[in-house]
Amino acid sequence: CGIVGYVTGGTACGKPLEVCLQGLGRLEYRGYDSSGVALSAPGMEKVSFRKKEGRLENLIDDIAVHPMPLATAGIGHTRWATNGAPSDINAHPHMSGNEKVAVIHNGIIENAPQLKQQLIDEGYTFESSTDTEIAAKLLGKVAEEIIAQTGEPDIFEALRRVARQLEGTFTLLATDCRQPHVVVGARHDSPLVVGLGDDENFLGSDVAAFVAYTTEALELGQDEAVEITPDTVKVTDFDGNPVELRPFTVDWDA
Ligand code: GLU
Repeated sequence: CGIVGYVTGGTACGKPLEVCLQGLGRLEYRGYDSSGVALSAPGMEKVSFRKKEGRLENLIDDIAVHPMPLATAGIGHTRWATNGAPSDINAHPHMSGNEKVAVIHNGIIENAPQLKQQLIDEGYTFESSTDTEIAAKLLGKVAEEIIAQTGEPDIFEALRRVARQLEGTFTLLATDCRQPHVVVGARHDSPLVVGLGDDENFLGSDVAAFVAYTTEALELGQDEAVEITPDTVKVTDFDGNPVELRPFTVDWDA
């Protein structure tokens, strides 16, 4: 329901977690039943993640007791359950099979049952009853295929390939711990905006996600995908063709 993404330059620090929790607090007005965050940093073998049913305070309290690592990239989500009851397991993020990729999602993936069956036939197992976990497993699979073909991770290209296979409505964000200075997103019939910073960039389901940090923003169009790094923003269609950027300044007094 609410989505935040963040990436910073330099060494791993507490800011990705801070920005995600701050942004999720600002997005609370949308309503939600659970929340979660995922963090990547150089050297991580797996994405670090935490998720909890109930109020955002439940997540914050859990992280206070079991601290999360310093990071360079983060994604955060508040969930409004559509597929699968509210629970810790069904909360986002959802992970790829090898837990190197984490995904958060707003919307409903209509062809999830067919995609799930194909993945089960290939040996994948699922722990949640969400549509989102299917996108996470599929993204992990495609990410591995790209590494096998090219020798390099490319989570941006992987997300575009997945977006082309999905039916329904989605804003998807992903982080891959092998690309800890990158966060990627894609949208179809669901909103996503970019916040522009200095040696840092932001993503949000609306500008409330990052308005505490920047009012310089870019709007994403229908069926567009984005890759943010600390100092670059690339926007393409789902086939990888560059599209024109639509900058705006957030008019916000809060
Ligand atoms: N369909 C997803 C789920 O049920 C996402 C719901 C949302 O937009 O928060 O987990």
